[in-house]
Amino acid sequence: MNTQESVQATPAQESPARKEFRRKRVKRIKAALLFLLVFFLVVPNLLCAFLLYKLYQMNKSLNLLREEIKISQTEIERRTKETTTVLVDEYGNPINMGTETVELPDDANLPDEERYPGQQLVYLTFDDGPGKYTNEILDILKEHNVKATFFVLAADGYDAEYNRIIAEGHTLAMHSYTHRYSEIYSSLEAFENDINSLSAFLVEKTGVRPRFYRFPGGSSNDVAHVDTADMIHFLTQEGYVYYDWNVSSEDASKELKETNTIVKNVLNGIGNKSNSVVLMHDSASKPTTVEALPIIIETLQKKENVVFLPITDRTKQVYHVKPELPQEEVKAPEERSEEPEARSEGVYEEADDENKEDAKPEDVQDAADESADEGSED
Ligand code: ZN
Repeated sequence: MNTQESVQATPAQESPARKEFRRKRVKRIKAALLFLLVFFLVVPNLLCAFLLYKLYQMNKSLNLLREEIKISQTEIERRTKETTTVLVDEYGNPINMGTETVELPDDANLPDEERYPGQQLVYLTFDDGPGKYTNEILDILKEHNVKATFFVLAADGYDAEYNRIIAEGHTLAMHSYTHRYSEIYSSLEAFENDINSLSAFLVEKTGVRPRFYRFPGGSSNDVAHVDTADMIHFLTQEGYVYYDWNVSSEDASKELKETNTIVKNVLNGIGNKSNSVVLMHDSASKPTTVEALPIIIETLQKKENVVFLPITDRTKQVYHVKPELPQEEVKAPEERSEEPEARSEGVYEEADDENKEDAKPEDVQDAADESADEGSED
């Protein structure tokens, strides 16, 4: 009953000082409670508001960055298209590729036929340039958005053309320094000199060392006094890959071919081939080839499955004389007797016999007598 007594006793016994003290204490407790209430209710809300604001700002920056990335990507794509040489070298014709002209990086090292499954691949190649028609040919290719390959000679006064070939995404490839068969094929040393001279010439003119080569007269020419295997060995050692052709425009003949004949030869030659390396000439004496070019391109572009490509290291090698075996495969004795097709699955394609256009002896004499600019055979 102590508690009851004290409760009852309190009002009577409480002094004013104590009353005042209690009142202050209650006030302090109230203030403390109020403070705690404010602290736990208002502060978290303020904090939340502050964080939400920060989040909003970060979202805004993120969107800005996204926009910037998008702009950068577009810019990169645009610049790649403008300056594409060998690397990028390598994209298809948008007219036939629809909206999928921008290739995924994953595709970058796939062989052309895997990058364009089910498509007819056409590699237009121009031998013997540059010359007075080179710019016209480049204009036609540009207008039709087609990339091609130029197997060039060493010609003075055409620095702009060599560089334009590269700048516009075509492949600059090697043909001959002199184009005089009697010199080039007189000995292995002469053959090597011809290639080395042309390489040095092109490096000086363009800063680029081409890696693709076409034998004057083709690899199966019967005018060389040098063993073809020795020449091929030299090319392989130097890192060159040679390309013959499996479709000929037949514009190499001495008499000027009519435009329609060239068109017909190329279109019939391509037919339904999945892989066509087309031999044409960029020569001062071949105006009908230039006339035939837009007709050939436009006819093929109407077929929806044709893709024009420049020769790159993803292009199946088309040859008349078989290439040298890769070293590691030479070492495997049990594989030596096999056909090259088995060893080089899907990499090489031997041209049909009718396209092995051996240089005739009379052509050789002509070519030997003519200057590089006039020399017209293959
Ligand atoms: Zn030639």
